[in-house]
Amino acid sequence: MKLRISEKIAHCEVLGPNKRSVIWVSGCEKHCPGCIAKTYHSSQNGTEEEVADVVRWFLETGDNHLTISGGEPFLQADALNDMLIQIKKVKDIGVIVYTGYKIEELNHPLLNQIDIVIDGEYIETLNDDRPYIGSSNQRLICLTHRYDNVMDYYQSEGRQITITALKDKTILVGVPSRQQYLMWQTMKGWGREDTD
Ligand code: SF4
Repeated sequence: MKLRISEKIAHCEVLGPNKRSVIWVSGCEKHCPGCIAKTYHSSQNGTEEEVADVVRWFLETGDNHLTISGGEPFLQADALNDMLIQIKKVKDIGVIVYTGYKIEELNHPLLNQIDIVIDGEYIETLNDDRPYIGSSNQRLICLTHRYDNVMDYYQSEGRQITITALKDKTILVGVPSRQQYLMWQTMKGWGREDTD
């Protein structure tokens, strides 16, 4: 089984509690105005990778937590479910997934692998600078108690981003505040390549 992935990074500290790996899958049909991940909307963006290779990559990072975003993870739910089953055969990990669907619209075993879902389309006019969440219509839904002890602390930190240099580009990581995104846009004006 294969996954189409736009980016993946290790040791991220701005997309959930604890150091975590992040996978941005390719493909989204929602096209929310103001989405900062436009480059990932195409199902042809990025590269196709064998699930087994992605599992190997994650295990080699040494991280115990994973955030999956995109793009729309549930468009590749079978492959992601397979990936998480394989990872969890080796170690128990915490998983956060961002989806543009409301959780009530989802009915896939992938949900059983997830600790927190952040659901719903991004609505630009409802961007209220809450940490982790793009707009106030979206919900942070705990499906397990794994992160109960740390969520208050991380929610008190406000929105945080990092600007990460990869081999061939620089990307913005995290859910930016309006001011942070403006800063990123200004940096793009200086000639930096980005992913949105
Ligand atoms: S669902 Fe998410 S990735 Fe898709 S367009 Fe909306 S904000 Fe962007």
